[in-house]
Parts: sequence; structure tokens; C-alpha cells
Amino acid sequence: ATSKRGSAKAATERVAGIALTHPDRVLWEGQGITKRDLARYHEAVAGHLLPHAANRPLTLVRCPGGSGTSCFFAKHPWAGLDPAVEAVRVGDDEAVAVRDPAGLVALVQAGVLEIHPWGATLADPERPDRLVIDLDPAEDVGFDAVRAAALEVRGRLEAAGLVGFLKTTGGKGLHVVAPLVPRAGWEEARAFAAALAGSMEHDAPSRFTHASRKAERTGRIFVDYLRNTRGATAVAPYSPRARPGAPVATPLAWDELTPGLRPGDLTVATVPARLAGSTRDPWEGFAAAARPLPTSLERGATPR
Ligand code: ATP
Ligand code: MN
Ligand code: MN
Repeated sequence: ATSKRGSAKAATERVAGIALTHPDRVLWEGQGITKRDLARYHEAVAGHLLPHAANRPLTLVRCPGGSGTSCFFAKHPWAGLDPAVEAVRVGDDEAVAVRDPAGLVALVQAGVLEIHPWGATLADPERPDRLVIDLDPAEDVGFDAVRAAALEVRGRLEAAGLVGFLKTTGGKGLHVVAPLVPRAGWEEARAFAAALAGSMEHDAPSRFTHASRKAERTGRIFVDYLRNTRGATAVAPYSPRARPGAPVATPLAWDELTPGLRPGDLTVATVPARLAGSTRDPWEGFAAAARPLPTSLERGATPR
């Protein structure tokens, strides 16, 4: 034979202008989802994902061999960064950011399966523009209790003058996200979130804990307020997860939080059709709902 598979070299495959090597590489074995599929997924959801991930410092989960192989968190620029991915300065540190669909596909080309932004933008990295309450059930806690916890968080945010938006994580918990007008700093955001988590534990200590020690979580939901510290991240809305089944962290409308909700059904394979088939954005009004962080959990507290 003169060459492998004939002499004509296949045209370079591009998605959003980014050349993909090994487009047929399977990233999620169970679903047969390839690198090409993931690149096209990002092209399809970019309009929904980028408002929450563009122009923010990112932590990325890179799994060069796919979801079943070893993955690592990348917080810093790496060698050979595509020009569609920016190396940016955040204080004394260097971070990675994207601006557009090409940036998302360039991340796929670099083996990135998960995208985890800061809750602040590059324009104003010291003042968070969202608060994330991350509900982490212990192994023995059912999803009914997680649903109830999300409603509880929503109510407490509302009582403080904030608007909560719901998303699945692609894992066992849920996130409730409140958009903020970025005025207060990280320390104040952390203190507010800690007070909210602490009040939930105070009022229902058999259901909730805000202690991060694993041993204290048995039978309870850890109300993880630590997503609201400088440098912390939460998985982006519409980011896939490097877990079996190719789940996606998916924004939901509150009326979708039903006993029949199965977060595992929201995947790289199903979410683009869900978006295309609905005229309603489950997070409609997110940007307009931003409020300054209240000075306390009490309603009517003076905004900063
Ligand atoms: P689940 O619903 O299964 O809890 P999750 O995404 O909320 O999914 P957590 O373990 O609660 O998972 O982590 C919350 C967030 O904290 C993650 O989305 C991620 O952004 C960040 N995180 C967790 N572990 C690390 C880590 N080792 N390095 C960097 N960031 C991390
Ligand atoms: Mn969690
Ligand atoms: Mn957590």
C-alpha cells in the first residue's frame, strides 16, 4: 500500500472555524458521543452558555482521553493555547477566558469537557455578579429532599430581595443562582451566603448543614456557600460533565422542579433539542433580575 486509507488527505474538519483533530474520538463511551459531537453541541448552545461563561476567568476540566479516563482541573493557560482562547491576568494570577463560539470549540479541541466560570467578570473580577448556592446531598439523601432544599433557598433569597434561578449540575445536587449587580466584594458575598446556609441549618438542623466536613453531612444536605469565595467556581449553565451519561448542567424553570424531574435525562444528546424545541428560555429575565447584594438576610436591608 502506498499510504493509509488512500493518498488523499481528508480535508481538515472545522467547527466554528476551529480545526478539530481526531473528530471521531469517542468522549463518552456509553453514548458514543464524539469530539465532533461535542464541538457541535457547543456550537448549538453557545448563545445560551456564553452569557454565563464568556469573559470570565475559567477553571476547565480537561480529559484528553474522554470522560472515562483521567481528568484534571486547569486554571492557568497551557502551552499551545489556541488564539480563540485568551490568557488573561486576574490580580496576580493568570487565567483562561473565551469570548465566542470559536473559543468554546477551541476548548473542545484542547480536551476540555467541563467549563467552570467565576461568579465575576474579567471587567470586574473583585465584585461578584452572581451568588451560587450549591446543594450537596449526602449519599443517603434522596432527590425529593434536594428539590425541597432548592425551593427553600429560593424563598430565602426572595425574602432578602434576590431572585433565584435553578439549574441541575449533571450530578446529584442542584444549584440556585442569584444574579447580582456587582457592587459588593467577595468577602461580603461569602458572608451573605454563609448566613443564608447557616440560617437553613439553624431552622432545620436535621435536614441541612453548612459545615464542609464530610462527617457532618450524613442524612443531610450540605448547603455549600463556598462557591462564593474569590477564585471559586461553579459549573457553567449548559456545560457538559465528564461523568457517565454525558449529563449537562441545565437551567430549569421553577415549574420544572417536579417529582418526575430526572436530571440525568438532560445530556449532550438531548439538551440542544430541548432548547430548539422551546420558545421559552428557562432563565428568561436573568440579567434584568440582578440586584445589589443586600447588607443582611432581612428584607428591606439597605442595598449597597
Ligand atoms: P454535584 O451536584 O454532584 O454536587 P457540582 O458541580 O455541584 O455537582 P461539587 O463537588 O459540589 O459538584 O462542586 C461544586 C463546584 O465546585 C464545581 O461545579 C466546581 O466548579 C468546583 N469544584 C469542585 N471541586 C473542585 C476542584 N477539585 N478544583 C476546582 N474546582 C472544583
Ligand atoms: Mn454540588
Ligand atoms: Mn459543593
